[in-house]
Amino acid sequence: MKDIFCHIIDGEIPSNIIYEDDDVIAILDISQATKGHTLVIPKAHYDNFLSCPMEIMHKVYDVAQRIGQAEMSVLGAKGVNILTNVGEPAGQSVPHFHVHVIPRYLGGEGGFQITMASHDANSFDLPRLAMQIKEGLE
Ligand code: AMP
Repeated sequence: MKDIFCHIIDGEIPSNIIYEDDDVIAILDISQATKGHTLVIPKAHYDNFLSCPMEIMHKVYDVAQRIGQAEMSVLGAKGVNILTNVGEPAGQSVPHFHVHVIPRYLGGEGGFQITMASHDANSFDLPRLAMQIKEGLE
């Protein structure tokens, strides 16, 4: 079954397209976290960042970088958040890999904040944790 981004890519649902080539499309997010909030999406369907092949991922992040640069120069953004959510527990609501490019302005326009809980590192065994993740790379 097609997801909403597949429908947009196939031109079946309207969107505000910023950029398009054979592999990647970039559109304005329908719920603008800040003015210019953009989504960069591979045209081929991959569920998320973790399942996207490196070649396509590089193309997606190349476009994300260029859009971030444009938002700084054209919209007067003073910073940009580049982020992608993987899986529902991480806040992914559309199961088709996409990267958010969210321009940030002085004065808190948009009210968008990334908040992370901060745990006492002593409550984890950090050397063991590092070893576990390291082993997962092998
Ligand atoms: P995520 O929660 O990381 O999966 O992000 C999905 C994003 O897609 C959200 O920020 C939505 O606002 C956005 N979105 C959903 N439907 C549309 C649409 N039809 N056009 C543009 N953006 C959309």
